[in-house]
Amino acid sequence: MLAHALNARRTILAIEDSMVEAGAMLAGALTSQSAGDRIELVHVPTRYPQGGERQLIRTLAGIEIGAGEVPRARGIACVNAGTAAAAWQAIAEGEPVTRRIVSVTGTGVREPGNFDVVLGTPLADLVAAAGGYTDDAERLIVGGPMMGNAVPNDAIPVTKATNCVLAMAASELRNAAPTLPCIRCGECARVCPAQLLPQQLHFHIAASEWEKTVKLGLDDCIECGLCAYVCPSHIPLIEAFRYGKGELAWQARERQRATLSRQRFENRQARLEKAAQARANRLKERDAQAAHIPSVPSAKPDHASTALARALARAGNLDTPDASS
Ligand code: SF4
Ligand code: SF4
Repeated sequence: MLAHALNARRTILAIEDSMVEAGAMLAGALTSQSAGDRIELVHVPTRYPQGGERQLIRTLAGIEIGAGEVPRARGIACVNAGTAAAAWQAIAEGEPVTRRIVSVTGTGVREPGNFDVVLGTPLADLVAAAGGYTDDAERLIVGGPMMGNAVPNDAIPVTKATNCVLAMAASELRNAAPTLPCIRCGECARVCPAQLLPQQLHFHIAASEWEKTVKLGLDDCIECGLCAYVCPSHIPLIEAFRYGKGELAWQARERQRATLSRQRFENRQARLEKAAQARANRLKERDAQAAHIPSVPSAKPDHASTALARALARAGNLDTPDASS
């Protein structure tokens, strides 16, 4: 359906090669739907972060999406499984996104599994459905081990972006080590799948040099967490990048707001000038009309002219010789 809507010349269904059972089911479904000639099923290596859009496009099509570029500009649409399912529900069944499948996993829960839940379900209910916490559950993470965010409690609701809830045991957590200065080892740049320079980005974010972070492609960071994982100085790079992206987004919103305000002001000025010009034109027109109207005697004589007329009439009577005399 999506391939038809996008008028796609080539459609690839990608699945990690470690998902043997799911891969076999997909292959069977393509055969039974006679879709094998239209849709290629490709097994990609299980390598983090393979699910990243740019990384997947590079693996499947050999096309490198450059910094600041969007796949759409190269004629590529990358759709994840959840979005594809939601599109089917919306188009085929007329249902909006009201639920999603969430994986609940980690050694901190008793019975890990995938759950189809209504948006808004508290994480606590999800964990309860997964058998509840184990005794050594220590931290709850929403979004997976590398890209996820630790959450303060399990009263937080499931949103349409909640793909995974991870309950980690204390033994799985890395000890919080003190942050040391960057030693310029370059490890972070070596592992970055987006070919960024994490140490430079971190440096410019710390100095609030936002234009430089834009030039270095902060927006292309997929927050995979690899740079922070390998950093021997335990620099919280991901936190810095999330903060930096938030700051850039806020600045972009402010710029947009300022542009809109300026436009509104300029539009109002233009309206006022137009109204003033129209008024001036009307006055000029009226004056011109008044100048061309011939003066006519007043239809209703005023008091002075009536008195004058009477006086003249009397004078005329005096001058006229009496007919009888
Ligand atoms: S989190 Fe680090 S390694 Fe991952 S894309 Fe961003 S800068 Fe690169
Ligand atoms: S890995 Fe850490 S210490 Fe090494 S260059 Fe990157 S930020 Fe600096």
